[in-house]
Amino acid sequence: MTDATSAKRLEINGIVQGVGFRPFIYQLANHHGLKGEVANTATGVSLVLEGPENGIRQFIDDLPARKPPLAHIVEVSAMPEPVKGFSAFSIVKSRGSATRATLISPDVMVCDDCLAEMRDPADRRFGYPFINCTNCGPRYTIIDDIPYDRPKTSMRHFTMCPLCQAEYDDPDNRRFHAQPNACPVCGPRVTLCDSHGHLIDTDDPIADTARRIKEGRIVAVKGLGGFHLAVDATNADAVTRLRRRKHREEKPFALMCADLDRIRAISRVSDAEEKLLVSIQRPIVLLEKREPNPIAEAVAPHNRYFGIMLPYTPLHHLLLDAGFTALVMTSANLSEEPIAIDNDEAFRRLGEIADDFLIHDREICLRSDDSIVRYSAGHMRPIRRSRGYVPVPVFLKDKMLPVLACGAELKNTVCLTRGRQAFVSQHIGDLENRATDDFFRLTVNHLKRILDIDPQIVACDLHPDYMSTRYARELDGIPRIEVQHHHAHIAACMAENKADGPVIGLSFDGTGLGTDGTIWGGEVLVADYHTFSRAAHLAPVPMPGSAAAIKEPWRMAVSHLRAAFGEDLGCLPLPLFRSVDKQQVDVMMAMMEKQINSPLTSSLGRLFDAVAAIIGLRGQVAFEGQAAMELEMISDDAESGSYDFSWEGNGDGPLCILNAPIIRGVVRDLAKGFSPAMISTRFHNTLVILFDQLCRHLHTATGIHRVALSGGVFQNNRLLAGLTAALEKSGFDLLTHRLVPTNDGGLSLGQAVVAAARANANQI
Ligand code: ZN
Ligand code: ZN
Ligand code: FE
Repeated sequence: MTDATSAKRLEINGIVQGVGFRPFIYQLANHHGLKGEVANTATGVSLVLEGPENGIRQFIDDLPARKPPLAHIVEVSAMPEPVKGFSAFSIVKSRGSATRATLISPDVMVCDDCLAEMRDPADRRFGYPFINCTNCGPRYTIIDDIPYDRPKTSMRHFTMCPLCQAEYDDPDNRRFHAQPNACPVCGPRVTLCDSHGHLIDTDDPIADTARRIKEGRIVAVKGLGGFHLAVDATNADAVTRLRRRKHREEKPFALMCADLDRIRAISRVSDAEEKLLVSIQRPIVLLEKREPNPIAEAVAPHNRYFGIMLPYTPLHHLLLDAGFTALVMTSANLSEEPIAIDNDEAFRRLGEIADDFLIHDREICLRSDDSIVRYSAGHMRPIRRSRGYVPVPVFLKDKMLPVLACGAELKNTVCLTRGRQAFVSQHIGDLENRATDDFFRLTVNHLKRILDIDPQIVACDLHPDYMSTRYARELDGIPRIEVQHHHAHIAACMAENKADGPVIGLSFDGTGLGTDGTIWGGEVLVADYHTFSRAAHLAPVPMPGSAAAIKEPWRMAVSHLRAAFGEDLGCLPLPLFRSVDKQQVDVMMAMMEKQINSPLTSSLGRLFDAVAAIIGLRGQVAFEGQAAMELEMISDDAESGSYDFSWEGNGDGPLCILNAPIIRGVVRDLAKGFSPAMISTRFHNTLVILFDQLCRHLHTATGIHRVALSGGVFQNNRLLAGLTAALEKSGFDLLTHRLVPTNDGGLSLGQAVVAAARANANQI
């Protein structure tokens, strides 16, 4: 006989529990005529297959392509097994005490099957805003503890009705073991309230909400990972009122559109961007605006892009059924505070902002903001990695000690590691107020619990004043490793690319404390995971007024002009001096001269700020990076000119890249009457040529042919695309961010891998 029965045992690790994996295995085994059994284990799923060798092989081939949408297979190991003579294929009870080491799925969009049921008047879940199944719905934000079972989620307060229970128990049903399974009889409900929390009497709270939004009202809508503030994006008054009430002067608001056609009507969507929009994570995607468009100017002022997402919960679909061009759906918080999740908290914190509240009675265990991505230089680039992506780990090349990395100060995330997995948390935010500090601590404890990780090392930044550093320093009985900010950026980029060092690392951002006590940010490092040396950096200039120079780029303009032209600035015919008077300039000059509150910085972000201010684009900013962003926005594809540049130093120390020739070039072009767009483009071109040449110079000196790009400045599309093209043309092996943000949101990953490498070397 050619099809003699053989048997194999498969162990599958990854996100394979709570995502319909066992029913999928059951059906696939039957499809190939195989017998045996499948069970959940502590690390994933274990199964025994019996049948013809051929069928088993086909089964294994089919696994990755046909897996359920939420499943994420990390590893499949197969070993021979004695033939036992199973009579059928069956799903058997979980093995072992708990499923602690298994992976938890992120929250993902409602699936097409559920949507079809929700739209079907004959279905018992017709119009039900919490419809879900094993292929879709909430996960991460409703989990309180592990193992992932209903009693450990915020669904524990809802007892399934007999119909729901029957679905839950049936391996052939799409809702087999779907922990959030619910229906209008037994599940969560929505209610509409006024701003004081009083119930508004209505037959259809969602339709009523839509009507109120159409009238120009601001409605707080409780969603998956927190509250949104919703207004009609075409209503200029409503959008402006929201901005005023939210104290959010300029930062763009996110939009939600019912479908792709509506998105295409207001923005340009490439095929790659369309894939991102419709992906199960449903992130906010940055898309180039179409002009003219009916969206209120105040949604994204001075910005070439809209951030747009498609609806991802059933409730969003029902809300958008009312026929909006687009809704503003912005995280419901006061500027810089974490997104609100709790009903009472929402009334307290948002009562002054929202006119009405559409709430529900399913608790959110852990807040998670919408993720933001863009397509740039041939790949998806996360800007904020949160809902839909977290807690999928970044898979590392090598096993590591369990580390807790506390991240940076702004755009904070934390990272916990386990084996070859690094779990970067959802976006926590700027650790500048009590509410965000609390959210930070809560997230650390929550992640430790649901991932079952007991860290043996804590990693943090060098900066003593970061709240995250203070937290790490307060932890008792656990070795602490402090990691230089720009080294952490480069290590994060190496880690997500599973790359070994050494690399030439271009680490460009606004601010990070250097090992010499000055503020770094235009750093070229030679780095591996363990250590780094500073190969080159921008020439340091003073930041007159310290933090004030971040909020007021005109101060950086004065500083860079002083470095380029000396004491005699007043006679320069610059647009800058139209908005800044001589007296202000003199005060800055004196501060720098006497070295009062003027720390030195080598930051490239601050050089962008300075150029933006010199050409009259922006002297003050409402949020960090705004001037640099607007400088990029005005650049112009046709221009190919550039400015002179040079660097100094040949000895043992790092090379010093001079800013002055670039600043002089900018001023010369202004004097010639060239446009800001042209100057911006020339400035970008200069940086591309400069750093390409510098990398080639360092390659000659060190033999290193691998370059890693990291830091917030690489959110600049023109710089990223330009440098990527130039460095690849020069033959470098290039590493860029595709999994974690290039900004400080990715920093915790870098801190974790550096700390683990150092601990390994020192045998801590
Ligand atoms: Zn579904
Ligand atoms: Zn039910
Ligand atoms: Fe940074």
